[in-house]
Amino acid sequence: MLKKIPLHTQIIIGLILGLVFGLVVIKTSLPNSFTLDYIKPIGTIFINSLKMIAVPLVLASLVVGVSNLGDISKLSRIGGKTIGTYLVTTVLAISIGLILVNVFKPGKSLPIETRENLMKLYEGDAGSRVGQAAELQEQSPLQPLVDIVPENVFLAASNNGAMLQVVFFAILIGIALLQIPKEKGTPVIAFFDGLNDVIIQIVNYIMLIAPYGVFALMASLIVEIAGENPDSAVELLLALLKYSAVVVGGLFTMILLVYPLILKAFTKVPYLDFFKAIRPAQLLAFSTSSSSATLPVTMKQVEEELGVSEEVSSFVLPLGATVNMDGTSLYQGVAAVFIAQALGMDLSLTQQLMIVLTATLASIGSAGVPGAGLIMLIIVLESIGVPAAGIALIIAPDRILDMFRTVVNVTGDATVCTIVASTEGELPDGLIRKSNPLTPNE
Ligand code: ASP
Repeated sequence: MLKKIPLHTQIIIGLILGLVFGLVVIKTSLPNSFTLDYIKPIGTIFINSLKMIAVPLVLASLVVGVSNLGDISKLSRIGGKTIGTYLVTTVLAISIGLILVNVFKPGKSLPIETRENLMKLYEGDAGSRVGQAAELQEQSPLQPLVDIVPENVFLAASNNGAMLQVVFFAILIGIALLQIPKEKGTPVIAFFDGLNDVIIQIVNYIMLIAPYGVFALMASLIVEIAGENPDSAVELLLALLKYSAVVVGGLFTMILLVYPLILKAFTKVPYLDFFKAIRPAQLLAFSTSSSSATLPVTMKQVEEELGVSEEVSSFVLPLGATVNMDGTSLYQGVAAVFIAQALGMDLSLTQQLMIVLTATLASIGSAGVPGAGLIMLIIVLESIGVPAAGIALIIAPDRILDMFRTVVNVTGDATVCTIVASTEGELPDGLIRKSNPLTPNE
């Protein structure tokens, strides 16, 4: 019976049932411990199994992606196009965020009492994140460049947060493979190619438990957010409703307006078909809040449903999951100005331009894992002279906003991937649908 339902519908059912279950638990006298002890672990197993394959997938697919390009000139063409488009979408996203937050001014309407309560409540939490960001900041301005080069590949590969280093190493291997004699390179490429297929097969297995995993993630998230005192959690979230609405409004603008327009301008792919194809990846991004964990599914959907070649997707998407975060950068723009408004500081145009610059860099530096954007936000705040402790004001709804921004991060990567494929002469008549074992009914 369940087999007949398409995957994205199964995931939506899991998501809704999880939300309902979580709400029932907090509204009735059922103990939270049951959800946390017996349901949450299923979600953790699901998300861990996706994370488990992130590093080998990025490594194998980028090596294959780069070496399949055939020569360095094609690599620089596709690489240039990819990075250029990623930068443009990021700057667009931040600009939209800045326009909305300046028009609606959610920070100005935050009552002083609420502001003080929030600051008191999250002081400790904010302090520990400021500490983490301070470590990042005490370094030379060139540190982000230094951080790209791993001192030990195996150390980098053992940390999902160091994905940029894995990306760097994989691209180097790919380039070197293009330049050594063919008879030596071919077996190495074949090995990574095989590894890539093995991982995609593992994704198929993991997706079998996706609806249950998503159910468990949602149910435990609700219970954890509500904590022991659900009424005060709701009160806090309501106080920050205007801010959250501006962030979510900006994110929807990206999905419903900006990406469709860009797709229309550069490809023949109808947006509705694009949207249908990447739905499972968006749902997964929403429930895991991690673009790295979603990457295997994004790749699979773009290749199998849209018909993008493996050559393009295996280069563009792993890079995007690491460096392109439109949703995160939009959120950082809104959050930085919101905090400044709430603290009664007026930001000049130069300061706002500084946000565009630092939020672009911060989103490149954010790992594709839950909560990464919040830590990098501190760097944005410090660059414009807003006290970093101000993040205490926005911690409460952050976990929920993380879900929405991750959807945009993943959609942005898939959009750019489709554009690069189209401009490379793929997808000439719009959609080339291939059979997809993940969505049997479509
Ligand atoms: N969770 C986001 C992602 O993985 C990053 C962030 O904004 O915190 O894409």
